[in-house]
Amino acid sequence: MNIFALPRTPAYEALTRAAQERILILDGAMGTMIQTLSMTEEDFTANGHVHGPGCRHYPSNHPQKGNNDLLVLTQPQAVEDIQLKFALAGADILETNTFSSTTIAQADYGMEAAVHDLNVAGAQVARRAAERAEAIDGRKRYVAGAVGPTNRTASISPDVNDPGYRAVTFDDLRRAYGQQIDGLIAGGADLIMIETIFDTLNAKSAIFAAFESFAKVGKRLPIMISGTITDASGRTLSGQTPTAFWHSVRHARPFTVGLNCALGADAMRPHLSEMAGVADTLICAYPNAGLPNAFGQYDETPEDTARKVEVFAQEGLVNVVGGCCGTTPEHIGAIAEHVAGYAPRKTGVTEDV
Ligand SMILES: [Zn+2]
Repeated sequence: MNIFALPRTPAYEALTRAAQERILILDGAMGTMIQTLSMTEEDFTANGHVHGPGCRHYPSNHPQKGNNDLLVLTQPQAVEDIQLKFALAGADILETNTFSSTTIAQADYGMEAAVHDLNVAGAQVARRAAERAEAIDGRKRYVAGAVGPTNRTASISPDVNDPGYRAVTFDDLRRAYGQQIDGLIAGGADLIMIETIFDTLNAKSAIFAAFESFAKVGKRLPIMISGTITDASGRTLSGQTPTAFWHSVRHARPFTVGLNCALGADAMRPHLSEMAGVADTLICAYPNAGLPNAFGQYDETPEDTARKVEVFAQEGLVNVVGGCCGTTPEHIGAIAEHVAGYAPRKTGVTEDV
């Protein structure tokens, strides 16, 4: 079927209109915010009572501490409160806490059976935060279903002695992503955010899965696609430049394409500039709060990060900005303030109108 013949959702239309008027704000990092809560194993498992709707239990022999995605079931209020803080700081788009909610990523915790419920609940929790924020200040917020890269790569062999070996295939990923995206849509996500892409083949399987999910529900959600540059030469782990990356995903007609995580805003700028020079869709950038220090912490102040992100806006490179690892609600508030006076980047061709 022609996926582009499916009607766009009302949120798609509203976001498209809003993006013509101003630079939209994406929220900041969930992971580093959760770390500050210093939760214990008992917190992560709700004292061993991890359960989903209808008291469904998920037997697992693994410790769950560090399984941040599980918190949408066991500590939903904590997740919602973080998302509300980001929304009130100025975020238009809230990401669900579902970065690792695939059977592939959850296998590390023996929580594969919980994946559907994690995604439904993840979208519902973010939706509650969005509605609370709107009730407070009257501004509409949107929920982006976060789809992470998983911990496996379909393009590269993890075994130096067997370059042909693959730890995961396109179809494995497609099935896992399909289950995730079905859950996110069922829970009420407005967008699908395929992010922190280090392997373009993984991302292409997520795109394929998203299209299959859209076909099932008979409507098309906006897709955001965000790569991550992992080395100083300006390539993704699977070896692509920003230009090559764009051409690999352009067929998806994404709502946005862009970069996140990895290097801080300074180092991201030239790569973002290259992408903005070739991509005929909206550009989204959400860097980390600088590079992590020796203790894995991020040192950039909200003002530091905001000034660097402001340069993106000044140069007319961006339509959506936010923060990745180490960015707090204060960082997002400062970024929103710093870019408020700038017009969004003008795109040459708008999607498929
Ligand atoms: Zn990050």
